[in-house]
Amino acid sequence: MNKLVQGLALNTMKTGLIYHPIFLQHDTGDHHPERASRLQAILRKLKKTGLIDKLDLVEPGAAQVEDVALAHSRDYITSVEEACKNAPANLDPDTVVSRDSYRAALFAAGAVVKAADLVINGEARNAFCMVRPPGHHARTGQAMGFCLFNNVAIGAKYVQKRYGIGRIAIIDWDVHHGNGTEEIFYKDPSVLYISLHQYPHYPGTGKAGDTGEDRGKGFNLNIPMQASSGNDEYIKVFKDKVTPKLKDFNPEFVFISAGFDGHRDDPLSSTNLTETGYHEMTCMIKELAPGRLVSVLEGGYNLFSLADSAHSHISALTLTN
Ligand SMILES: [Zn+2]
Repeated sequence: MNKLVQGLALNTMKTGLIYHPIFLQHDTGDHHPERASRLQAILRKLKKTGLIDKLDLVEPGAAQVEDVALAHSRDYITSVEEACKNAPANLDPDTVVSRDSYRAALFAAGAVVKAADLVINGEARNAFCMVRPPGHHARTGQAMGFCLFNNVAIGAKYVQKRYGIGRIAIIDWDVHHGNGTEEIFYKDPSVLYISLHQYPHYPGTGKAGDTGEDRGKGFNLNIPMQASSGNDEYIKVFKDKVTPKLKDFNPEFVFISAGFDGHRDDPLSSTNLTETGYHEMTCMIKELAPGRLVSVLEGGYNLFSLADSAHSHISALTLTN
């Protein structure tokens, strides 16, 4: 497709909102911060403002186990399935599963696969996957930090396998370092992982000096942020570090690990981002990745700031320029 035709097509396509009600059935108990009401709060906000009318609401299917196995060991996948049969169970001190959690996790990964298909096939201009459980702490063989399967990592591996796309960038602005995503791609020069995260903070990883290993050296960019950082600090880092690194890498496809727990009202962080910061960061990434951008929900635990921030992010995704 030439650039003009591609541009016209992009302007008429909608942003996809990939969501399935099964995400509400991943039951973490009454007092867990990562709970079903998070997604209901975002949905309510999208309906209240009418933004939902500008989106293509798409229900995903479950990811194929062979696609999940692109990022996880078969033994680990089976162990999650078995744990859910014996639910409720704790996979780590923070990570709880119910009977439906395995299916919900397969659908969460399936949402990213579906979003990638829609965007690559020109059926959506970009997409937001409103999923839970989240993914970026999930390691090859270990659940961690509310995460079962690493949705973004599965999506990146799927895009490479299914479409033969080479260079993929993952930008992770969840306030916690995405240790699982980093680990999965640490030796892989085809996937650039960029994380901005409060440091020091959970899960303890994410040092600036951790830049990748072997052939992957230089393709892992950790940007530790001070606890008091807000919109100004994040935007400056985007301009000074993220944008130049992305331009240099020239990705063919881009994923965002979009956690909104860096908001100033979030109970799990001390950073001071607001809806405006998320909007601006979205616009900056979107400009560099027209027609090849999929965003995936990670954290965000204050229902109001989560709904407002996700709304602001999705609203930026729908802008035609
Ligand atoms: Zn987080």
